Amino acid sequence: MSDGRALARTFLEQQRLLGTGWVVLSTPDTPGTPGLRPGSVQPGPGIPLTPGASPGNPESPGSRGKELPPPGISYDPPAGDLFSNDPISQARSVAAVAALVAECTRCRLCEGRTHTVPGEGPDDARLVVVGEGPGRVEDETGRPFVGPAGELLTKILAAIDLPRERVFICNVVKCRPPENRVPQYDEVGACAPYLFRQIELLKPKVILAMGGTAAQTLLDTKQSLGALRNRIHRFRGIPVVVTYHPAALLRNPHWKRPTWDDVRTAHRLLA
Ligand code: URA
Ligand code: SF4
Repeated sequence: MSDGRALARTFLEQQRLLGTGWVVLSTPDTPGTPGLRPGSVQPGPGIPLTPGASPGNPESPGSRGKELPPPGISYDPPAGDLFSNDPISQARSVAAVAALVAECTRCRLCEGRTHTVPGEGPDDARLVVVGEGPGRVEDETGRPFVGPAGELLTKILAAIDLPRERVFICNVVKCRPPENRVPQYDEVGACAPYLFRQIELLKPKVILAMGGTAAQTLLDTKQSLGALRNRIHRFRGIPVVVTYHPAALLRNPHWKRPTWDDVRTAHRLLA
């Protein structure tokens, strides 16, 4: 797209999808890219729609993010073998994993749950999104990312033309931590084998780790989210893109723009 009307359409569509009256614009690397006026695009908490604002087209030549980020951590935990009698590595389908989760008492989070939230999405999903753990609405419904953070996730996915029905969406822990606290080390340790088996069965093309808990669990590291962003990590060879958690975005709209960049990286890896 090169003419101004097409750019304006992209701009407005993106604003509609991201909602809340904010839009995230790319900063072009190349001064003088047709249709873009770099000086008019300010980094920051998204650009409110103002007359005369010059939208950046995320996919236009010269826009930021054309090059993929460099490689990062590679984590390749051993998978269960055929002769293992561990029921999780024996689970033959994502539904079988969910059935084990439904009965699980491997950690104390089983005590406060109303429903387990194993995750949902098609068996042939090319993208797996991993969050932290169920919140209140998720615990009430048994479905991942259906509260306010989930609504934002749905918009983020729509912005890269992915209906959430085509994505497998899950969490590191499958039961709600009390008061939505961060899951503790032993709870993550007890629950992660379910996530690892889900990924093993789904064989997605890309994993999007949303928030520090997902990133640190999938990459077996204590590094901060800030240190982990902007690298393409690998979990058992599958590219892992790390970004902010949607709940954090609701608190801090400044992070919407970098999140948009990360999500576009994931989208390019899916192509
Ligand atoms: N936050 C998460 O990490 N996961 C959910 O499912 C909902 C909110
Ligand atoms: Fe089991 Fe995970 Fe729930 Fe803990 S959080 S009880 S390990 S399913």
